[in-house]
Amino acid sequence: MGNAVLWRKTAEAGRFAGEVASRCDVVVVGGGYTGLATALFAAEAGLSVQVLEAGEIGAGGSGRNVGLVNAGLWLPPAELEAAAGRAFLDLFADAPGLVFELIEKHQIRCEATREGTLHAAHSAGGLEGLRGRHAAWTARGAPVEMLGAEEMYAAAGCRAFPGGLLDRRAGTVNPLGYARGLAWAATAAGAAISEGVPVTGLRRDGAGWVVSFDGGAAQAGAVVLATNAYSAELRPEVARCFSVIHYQQLATEPLGAAAAHVLPGRQGLWDTGLVMKSLRKDAAGRLVLGTMGRLEGTAEAGASVDWARRVLRKWYPELAEVRFEAAWDGQIAMTPDHLPRILQLDEGLYCPVGYNGRGVTTGTVFGRALAGMLAGGGGALPLPLTGPEAVAFRGLRGKVVDWAAAVTLRL
Ligand SMILES: Cc1cc2nc3c(=O)[nH]c(=O)nc-3n(C[C@H](O)[C@H](O)[C@H](O)COP(=O)(O)OP(=O)(O)OC[C@H]3O[C@@H](n4cnc5c(N)ncnc54)[C@H](O)[C@@H]3O)c2cc1C
Repeated sequence: MGNAVLWRKTAEAGRFAGEVASRCDVVVVGGGYTGLATALFAAEAGLSVQVLEAGEIGAGGSGRNVGLVNAGLWLPPAELEAAAGRAFLDLFADAPGLVFELIEKHQIRCEATREGTLHAAHSAGGLEGLRGRHAAWTARGAPVEMLGAEEMYAAAGCRAFPGGLLDRRAGTVNPLGYARGLAWAATAAGAAISEGVPVTGLRRDGAGWVVSFDGGAAQAGAVVLATNAYSAELRPEVARCFSVIHYQQLATEPLGAAAAHVLPGRQGLWDTGLVMKSLRKDAAGRLVLGTMGRLEGTAEAGASVDWARRVLRKWYPELAEVRFEAAWDGQIAMTPDHLPRILQLDEGLYCPVGYNGRGVTTGTVFGRALAGMLAGGGGALPLPLTGPEAVAFRGLRGKVVDWAAAVTLRL
């Protein structure tokens, strides 16, 4: 497979090539979790919805991510509560529940497991940080457990970690499978989804909007711009609200019994390193190893696969010579305060952005909330609507993170 996204090979197939409706209540630009959850819930609420996706469903972060369905957001819980309030923290503490409920309700086949995730300490300092998270979560009644070195050995199958935090609320999915499943569910609820339609223009038209693309246009009462880290020139003020950083992953061939000891409980794992690493298994027994930064080279040769082999040599020396069969990367929208935003760019034009690498839940939660708002009966949004605020030195910030990751890749 060389440089290909593993999930495109392993997710349930799905093509969405519907005719574009010329008029509807809501046009959604972007077919990732945010756009698809908006479409699903808005269609269920009785609105007519058209999703326009430039590439294929899941072409952005939603078809490229690790598939960790985490509780909470990037910030530790106490900081998140201080920044966004208790109701927001509680919403995200329960957010994996919404994802797994949708998977169950719509019978989405996406290798879903809900055995928790392991946040692995990479050092004594990392362990201290996890103890802080553990204390904050348990004070709020969350089912999280500290694991000692022996328990981490049993859970991860290696002695690399002095301890860890097991969060039983979380789980894993095949991320593209989840996106395609949301798309099928939205279609079944009445939404129209058209792949291969890059939107090239947005203009106000009376009380509504005209959304144009090569060869046509659609009129809508409201538009949800769900392009997130893949926002480009359509509304340049959106891309100025975050820095783009990259995350890369490499998947081994299916390892069968040879890797039975790796993550035997099927949790996903990420570590506390400043340049974070992640590890999970897929349903076929492949290990999927990831870290920050751009992919360098291919699954066969280059700095990224050399890095992956070094990590395996350290964590699982018995697997150091396995073959890698897929390698890919993707873009993450990072905000300086690590909080997402729901932007209102104009009357009837909304744009959720900046999930800081926590989008499986955030896209689903924000999509549901936006749909509720558009349908007029869905309660308050999780965050107040804000205007776009440009991040100073956004390009430089992203480059520094990618550069630090590239250096770490070679250590
Ligand atoms: C490698 C990687 C690993 C990650 N790991 C995790 C994880 O384990 N857990 C987690 O919760 N989150 C993770 N994330 C973050 C998560 O994937 C994203 O936050 C989430 O997918 C964002 O969803 P979205 O729908 O908002 O945007 P996206 O899925 O990025 O969708 C945006 C879509 O807009 C489309 N688009 C852009 N411009 C146009 C246009 N002009 N016209 C039409 N369509 C357009 C793009 O083609 C794209 O499909 C990771 C991200 C990456 C990249």
